[in-house]
Amino acid sequence: MNISITKTTTPRQKPDEKNLGFGKYMTDHMFTMDYDAEHGWHNAQIIPYGKIEVDPAAVVLHYAQETFEGLKAYRTSDDRILLFRPEMNAKRMQNSNRRLCIPEIPVEDFVEAVKALVKVEADWVPREPGTSLYIRPFVFSTDCQIGLHTSFVFKFVIVCSPVGAYYAAGVNPVKILVEEEFVRAVQGGTGFAKCGGNYASSMLAQAKAEEKGYSQVLWLDGHERKYVEEVGSMNIMFKINGEIYTAPIDGTVLPGVTRDSIIHILKDWGYTVHEQRVAIDDLMKAGQDGSLEEAFGTGTAAVISPVGLLDYKGTQVTINHFENGELTMKLYNYLTGIQWGREKDPYGWTTEVK
Ligand SMILES: *Cc1c(COP(=O)(O)O)cnc(C)c1O
Repeated sequence: MNISITKTTTPRQKPDEKNLGFGKYMTDHMFTMDYDAEHGWHNAQIIPYGKIEVDPAAVVLHYAQETFEGLKAYRTSDDRILLFRPEMNAKRMQNSNRRLCIPEIPVEDFVEAVKALVKVEADWVPREPGTSLYIRPFVFSTDCQIGLHTSFVFKFVIVCSPVGAYYAAGVNPVKILVEEEFVRAVQGGTGFAKCGGNYASSMLAQAKAEEKGYSQVLWLDGHERKYVEEVGSMNIMFKINGEIYTAPIDGTVLPGVTRDSIIHILKDWGYTVHEQRVAIDDLMKAGQDGSLEEAFGTGTAAVISPVGLLDYKGTQVTINHFENGELTMKLYNYLTGIQWGREKDPYGWTTEVK
């Protein structure tokens, strides 16, 4: 792929690395690439970060034809910059795109674009412990037609944001509300695809949960509202009687890169991992009789997020005395160790940007 690079003449002031928050600051440049039926993907460029002009009739604005990804670049103590399994994000975006009738981007091109942009923005990869550069690739239809047809014009963009730890107060257990009314995904829908529409339709449940003092909702399956699927925008795992349970990837659950990595590590550590459906009633029972030892969400943004309390139909169970679980923290330290280059990477998951 031939990427033309135009550097900014007005670089922004870098934010205080101790107060980055999540997704508040954008870097100096962005990657863009266009698609049309005649040329396919073309016009790859890195240009100064700025507004994108879209026609008011653009399909994405009316019918949400959009997919996205999220990954991070990490600075090691010896000043190298690492990406974590970027080809997994590239493949997942292809999968999402197939579902949304968006042309696929070749895996090599996706990874090359991410690397080229991070290289240009190398100085934006923060140095403070726990910080990283969040990378957000996304693709959307710019075809102009209010009529609902397949579109033929698309734009692929990558932007970056230096981020602090996802949870301002550090790794701490969160309170989760089990969602009874709304659903996120159904078989045959778009649950497995990382598309903006999934998020638009889950905002109401999230807002209601926050109003009641919970940080996320736990989604149940959309058919029977009986089986546990995901927590907010993370996959979720439970340690019950020493074994690990997480929902299978069978159409409604987003195949998380973090989920996949944690399952690999757990199996190597000798744990039994069940990728099978867990009924919410059984989970609540396990919470009450103490066999539910730990619970945690997994996702790129937070990496691992311990769950300290579940509320289902007004009944609450506290997990591990509302403290970070031992296995949860061991996983957190090991996986973030690989990502920041503190631990050896026996899996070949990290790729250096140079
Ligand atoms: C992105 C996402 C995840 C986590 O995926 P990672 O690749 O681990 O970041 C989980 N669930 C949903 C709904 C997501 O959008």
